[in-house]
Amino acid sequence: MKKLLAFIFAAALLAGCAGDRPEILPEGEGNLKVHFLDVGQGDCILVQFPDGRNMLVDAGKNDSAGVIVGYLKKAGVKKLDFVVGTHPHEDHIGSLDVVLKTFPAGEVFMPRVTTNTRTFRDVLETVKDRGLTITTARAGVSILKSGSISVDIVAPRGTQYESLNNYSAVIKITYGRVSFLLAGDAEEQSEAEMLAAGAAGLKADVLKVGHHGSRTSTSTPFLKAVAPRYAVISLAADNEYQYPHGVTLDKLKKTGARILRTDEKGTIVFTTDGEKITFATAR
Ligand SMILES: [Zn+2]
Repeated sequence: MKKLLAFIFAAALLAGCAGDRPEILPEGEGNLKVHFLDVGQGDCILVQFPDGRNMLVDAGKNDSAGVIVGYLKKAGVKKLDFVVGTHPHEDHIGSLDVVLKTFPAGEVFMPRVTTNTRTFRDVLETVKDRGLTITTARAGVSILKSGSISVDIVAPRGTQYESLNNYSAVIKITYGRVSFLLAGDAEEQSEAEMLAAGAAGLKADVLKVGHHGSRTSTSTPFLKAVAPRYAVISLAADNEYQYPHGVTLDKLKKTGARILRTDEKGTIVFTTDGEKITFATAR
């Protein structure tokens, strides 16, 4: 027994010396799941960490509450440890009030910007009623750091933008060798700021394409830095904005990324053990 303990201790020491090399995951650490829910024209992403904690990034439009709550319950969510409202547009925070009334929540993150809509006021009221507070979502904020998992906010980097979209909290999730970049609705200006802060940190296996595939996002240098294997676009079929734009699709195709659209595939769920990555779709 003593020998075994000594061995574990030595192994732990060695692991601690690994430096910048990717960590070798302890066996049985489990999988990370990232669900891109089909909520029509909007965003809603559920992240389930191997230790059982959950994070929700956005909550679709006001009329998606039933779909989202039903999905979260089916996925076994009892508590949302981290909740992010990327920016206060209705297609991102629409059902956040109902979600926060339904599930106990831990930390809530939103960018420091306000908008004069009923939807936004509903969210703020619910946050207050539930005794929660809002942590400002901005570059440099760490949402979670645990073992080989890290969740970091990489944008917004500025404090004043003309477009509400550029206030979008952009989230980088890393598990071992696998990473996800959730770009919210960040547009070219925010993308340029992220690039200026360090292109290397943007590289990701899965990119949640910014702003539903609009041409105002996914600038060529940004896409080059992310270099995704999978590009997820969250949108409704035949939407009034005519997303995704052809130029954006062309750019994505040229990078060789596999494009997965919620209007075509329904809900898209990625599973990774920190080494390999698989996905499944369901309508
Ligand atoms: Zn949007």
